[in-house]
Amino acid sequence: LGPTVCVGEILVEIVATTVGDGFLEAQPLVGPFASGAPAIFISQCGRLGGKAAMVGAVGDDDFGRVNTDRLKRDGVDVSAISIDPDYPTGSAFVRYRKDGSRDFVYNIATSAAARFGWSQTVGDLIDRSGHLHVMGSALSVPSAREVIDKAVDIVKARGGTLSVDPNIRKELKLDGDTERRFSKLVAMADLLLPSGEELERAAGVEGEAEAIRRLFEIGVKEVVLKRGADGATYFGGQGDRIDAPAFVVQEVDPTGAGDCFGGAYLTCRRLGMSQQQALTYASAAGARNVTVLGPMEGAGTRRELDAFIASTERRP
Ligand code: ADP
Repeated sequence: LGPTVCVGEILVEIVATTVGDGFLEAQPLVGPFASGAPAIFISQCGRLGGKAAMVGAVGDDDFGRVNTDRLKRDGVDVSAISIDPDYPTGSAFVRYRKDGSRDFVYNIATSAAARFGWSQTVGDLIDRSGHLHVMGSALSVPSAREVIDKAVDIVKARGGTLSVDPNIRKELKLDGDTERRFSKLVAMADLLLPSGEELERAAGVEGEAEAIRRLFEIGVKEVVLKRGADGATYFGGQGDRIDAPAFVVQEVDPTGAGDCFGGAYLTCRRLGMSQQQALTYASAAGARNVTVLGPMEGAGTRRELDAFIASTERRP
């Protein structure tokens, strides 16, 4: 079984330590934290002992090294992360509002994160990978989209598998070409990992049951729906369903929960665990990550998740 490969943006995140509206006044910040949804996902895969590799780019700067050092420590193969000599590592500044919503300032479009492409090293990695994970949001980045298109075709043609996290807000209108790519990607997914309303967005129909039915009709094999503090549900193609209750935790920073959940679920399945067991580890990974400040600072190892599961209550 070749490694799980994730393609997409690598960023640092810098977080305001006070709650309020935006960044118009000087205020205390913490970071840089390693981030980018695909990087969080692959970090969690590596931490759990899965074979994992990342395709993306960072600048030749400390923000880039924060990420590559972190992923290396997690056991992720970083050989296909290119170092852009001309553009800085992408970054995102985030501040939480009282109601839990967030204000962002992004530096991504003109960063290394938006400029990586296909290379011999990427091709070699994709040629030996067993599973590809893609985030829908990466389809808006032209360079990432080219890599994803090629990688999906190669991995699927070799009998490898694909997981997709739609990672796209329900209201977001994509241009015609991106929408077609998104629909194609969803239909090719062996595992779809939507959260909340992304389920209906990915299926293109209203209502949970309708959306699930539609997704199996177009060829998706498994769906795991993430419901935040309300837990998660596995849906299989034969009408089977498993509800996974959430663990009861004090939420400090919700960023990264879904990516840790997805990385853990996929890795556990690839390591041979049942859906039920994988859901337990995934729910623990998501819940544990929200208890710590920083997008992937709470991603757990097998041992840390075992300890978390043993000591944390689940919602009834
Ligand atoms: P996303 O980050 O993609 O929106 P969710 O917020 O649904 O994903 O989180 C993914 C999973 O992480 C949930 O299904 C749940 O198992 C766990 N999780 C997230 N937030 C909490 C929370 N506040 N308490 C307990 N578990 C949580």
